[in-house]
Amino acid sequence: MIQFILFGPPGSGKGTQAAKLAEKYDLYHISTGDLFRSETANKTTLGLKALEYMSQGQLVPDEITIGMLKNKISNLSEVSGFIYDGFPRTNPQAEALDCLLQESNQAIDLLLSLEVPEDEIVKRILNRGKTSGRPDDNDEAIIRKRIQVYLDETSIVFEHYAKLGKSRHINGIGTIEEIFERLCFELDQICK
Ligand code: ADP
Repeated sequence: MIQFILFGPPGSGKGTQAAKLAEKYDLYHISTGDLFRSETANKTTLGLKALEYMSQGQLVPDEITIGMLKNKISNLSEVSGFIYDGFPRTNPQAEALDCLLQESNQAIDLLLSLEVPEDEIVKRILNRGKTSGRPDDNDEAIIRKRIQVYLDETSIVFEHYAKLGKSRHINGIGTIEEIFERLCFELDQICK
């Protein structure tokens, strides 16, 4: 069972690459952003609460996020591994994930962080905003806020797994295929 975190700032290409990797390595793709958006679309209590934070470029509180993730994972039948995309985004989330995995004698095997400069990220997200319909993709101030939240609260998660020798940086500039190959090279090392 592979437990793999695809990491990096908003707009770094995690969603695109996670979908390709999930297919190639037969992994279950968990995107907390997608889960929140689906809750919002269904107008559930959780979704409406999450929207208050998402639309402002803030993180949804850990309690809500961790609860939703646990609920999702416990309802899955047999899978051969996971890609976590957009989770964990804070140290408490990383600790909660570690505890959850420990209950079944597992642990994170690898964290790959896509590195993309801030100006390129803003360009990509504004471009995505033309078609994504996401309220957090259209406003440059909100996008910059999301990047700041990433730097302040999320980037430390890299160090959490680096201490265990599990974190690697990946150049996130290039074509989708070039970046995919870089990620596959690292995943192949742990899938051997
Ligand atoms: P991006 O990585 O492009 O910002 P996501 O789809 O991963 O997009 O997340 C969109 C929003 O959903 C985030 O800005 C945040 O408000 C919320 N969110 C997603 N994952 C988490 C998480 N693990 N913890 C807290 N909030 C989250």
